[in-house]
Amino acid sequence: MCRQLGYVGPAVRVGDMLTLGSHSLRTQAWAPKDMRGGGTINADGFGAAWWRAEGESVTVSRYRNQAPIWTDPAVEEVLPQLESWAVLAAVRSATVGMPVERTACAPFTHGRWAFSHNGVVPDWRRALSAVAEEFGSTATELGAGQLFEPVRLLEAESTTDSATLWVILRGLLSTGAPDGSWAAAPAALSLLVAAVLAQAPGARLNFLLGDGQQLWATTVYHSLSALVTDDFAILCSEPFDDDPRWQPIPDRQLVSARPGSLTLTPLLAAPSTKGSLS
Ligand code: GLN
Repeated sequence: MCRQLGYVGPAVRVGDMLTLGSHSLRTQAWAPKDMRGGGTINADGFGAAWWRAEGESVTVSRYRNQAPIWTDPAVEEVLPQLESWAVLAAVRSATVGMPVERTACAPFTHGRWAFSHNGVVPDWRRALSAVAEEFGSTATELGAGQLFEPVRLLEAESTTDSATLWVILRGLLSTGAPDGSWAAAPAALSLLVAAVLAQAPGARLNFLLGDGQQLWATTVYHSLSALVTDDFAILCSEPFDDDPRWQPIPDRQLVSARPGSLTLTPLLAAPSTKGSLS
């Protein structure tokens, strides 16, 4: 179990997204209400990513610490000084056997993307090597095979399932759709879920992905709720306050959220889950 949160909307203080509400992400770290599949608290670190304009382009910055979120004074003293229109944050409960270190804490970032994973991939070294190999053979036909070469998995920031999933997912995101027939993020997420479940049927795959404009998520086993209005969109493992507009997301959904829009697509019925990149 981990807990995660994504926000897109009017500028907010980054620190507020960690502490806002009677059941804030920081509170969810030590008193989560909807634990599924073991784990009691999320004490193995945390992280927050936020987007900012740099000249013409938009870039992601982040802060991570392997200490429990409730022990880090930066949450009260530093992060509230930063503002952004988009935030993606997570508190971590390390899967047994995985390292407790800063680099294992989500969000994982690359270019304009930030990513977090709540769950576990059983036998992840074997399963994810096989997934990368499978994508590699399809991508070779598209001239993108190098994105999935086994050696690329060494780029994972930490030897965890989540960090390795991110290496594969960012490969899928940069492969894109040659004919532009589908948006890269939803297709990449549903391809990844299908491929991982084929290798590791017991995998728990609640992904959260953001590009600063939009949020995408998957629900495979763990909890997720959405609060979307015309002004802002929030996805969070658990509602962080008692606003009646929070909607629980059912299992096995691909979620797409931005201000004014929340879309759910059943994961296994989603297009592009047949293991093809084209
Ligand atoms: N397996 C991931 C890790 O150890 C995520 C754990 C979780 O969701 N609790 O970092």
